[in-house]
Amino acid sequence: MASASDVRVRFCPSPTGNPHVGLVRTALFNWAFARHHGGTFVFRIEDTDAARDSEESYEQLLDSMRWLGFEWDEGPEVGGPHAPYRQSQRMDVYADVARRLMEAGHAYRCYCSAEELEERREAARKAGRPSGYDGTCRNLTDEQKAAYEAEGRPSIVRFRMPDEPITFTDLVRGELTFTPENVPDYGIVRANGAPLYTLVNPVDDALMEITHVLRGEDLLSSTPRQIALYRALADIGVGNGSVPEFGHLPYVMGEGNKKLSKRDPQSSLNLYRERGFLREGLLNYLALLGWSIAEDRDIFSMDEMVAAFEIGDVNANPARFDLKKCEAINATHIRELDTKDFIARCEPWLKAPHAPWAPEKFDRAAFEALAPLAQTRLTVLSDITANVDFLFLDEPVEDEASWQKAMKAGSDALLRTARAKLAEAEWRAEALKEAVLAAGEEHGLKLGKAQAPVRVAVTGRTVGLPLFESLEVLGRDRTLARVDAALARLEAQPEG
Ligand code: GLU
Ligand code: ZN
Repeated sequence: MASASDVRVRFCPSPTGNPHVGLVRTALFNWAFARHHGGTFVFRIEDTDAARDSEESYEQLLDSMRWLGFEWDEGPEVGGPHAPYRQSQRMDVYADVARRLMEAGHAYRCYCSAEELEERREAARKAGRPSGYDGTCRNLTDEQKAAYEAEGRPSIVRFRMPDEPITFTDLVRGELTFTPENVPDYGIVRANGAPLYTLVNPVDDALMEITHVLRGEDLLSSTPRQIALYRALADIGVGNGSVPEFGHLPYVMGEGNKKLSKRDPQSSLNLYRERGFLREGLLNYLALLGWSIAEDRDIFSMDEMVAAFEIGDVNANPARFDLKKCEAINATHIRELDTKDFIARCEPWLKAPHAPWAPEKFDRAAFEALAPLAQTRLTVLSDITANVDFLFLDEPVEDEASWQKAMKAGSDALLRTARAKLAEAEWRAEALKEAVLAAGEEHGLKLGKAQAPVRVAVTGRTVGLPLFESLEVLGRDRTLARVDAALARLEAQPEG
């Protein structure tokens, strides 16, 4: 390998629920950035919130990362020089750092109760003053502290923000300045001793020597606090003393210009997997949420993204999630697969629980004969099942809407003529088409109108793969039997 650079980025989700597309976009940009620079991609699990985190979603995160192809250089199951990479296993580290921060005066015990805080916040709001923490416990005397302790008052640990503004250059948004009024002292350890995200995230970034923090814009307001904490950590000798650079990725908007929320069904990664998106297609689309490879170019591979990705090219404006575009890009990636690969990727959708046919009815040769035709038409892999089920079911599916649409007055006469001509035709797509064309002509119908009832009789649906190739693969006997069954049904049902 080329000489590894010093770039170290991290992807550090909390295992709460299914991964969502916003999270995947964050992982993608971090991964692409690391690979572009020949750096290190660290995967860390932020599972310090026992009430919300679950083992099940931890497993899901790992599974998702593997499916997406984001191999991590350090992290769970892989290990690394800063192990463990699950914060729940690092609690003693955080307790030690909190203690040292207090000893050095960078943090202090705050004895204010929730009610007192709320009262003062309300008063500040009324007076038009900033309503963040007002610093009441910043400079308690030893006597005051002793008195509170004697009372048995619970206390949290609060970080002491510096009195000067904090300025940093965001890699996406440029220079930003936060004034002290807007960044009050904040809690880092709960009264019960549990460390908060506000502490554990920067502590681990420092210890793991993270050089670049790329994350969603929703975390921008915590950046000045984290920079101040970083400086304090440097002061007490935690980490290597440098502050990472930050880049905040733009919001992702959903329907109606609202932020795409975790609860939005179209934001769940699992949904895309279940529908049969290719990882290449989904990631290609997610890359476009804030970045582009070139003007007028939407389609690219992950290798191409890695080669081209610069964080400075990320756009600060909100990006809009467009499912239709995501599907179109996926369809393009499906078309670009080599056919053998396409066939292999269809595999899960050709058996239970997706496929409705009995396993022994599956005929690989028949499937492979139609696969190239399907490949150019699918949006998502799961569509394959409905496109080929007519081959493997004893009878075509009954889709009432299709039947109503195709079976008009006179369809029985057309079907009878078509049946007769098909019965005599050479069983090849071209000849079958001639047969249906000729049947249509006898009834004054163009090919499109003439083939609709044949298609519904044979496949059950009005839409599907090219009909005559489908009939060729299905075979003469089964085709004619299905036309006969449709005719019987038409005869049985009262006209009009
Ligand atoms: N665990 C945090 C989250 O999921 C990480 C935020 C960060 O990247 O700093 O939101
Ligand atoms: Zn206080």
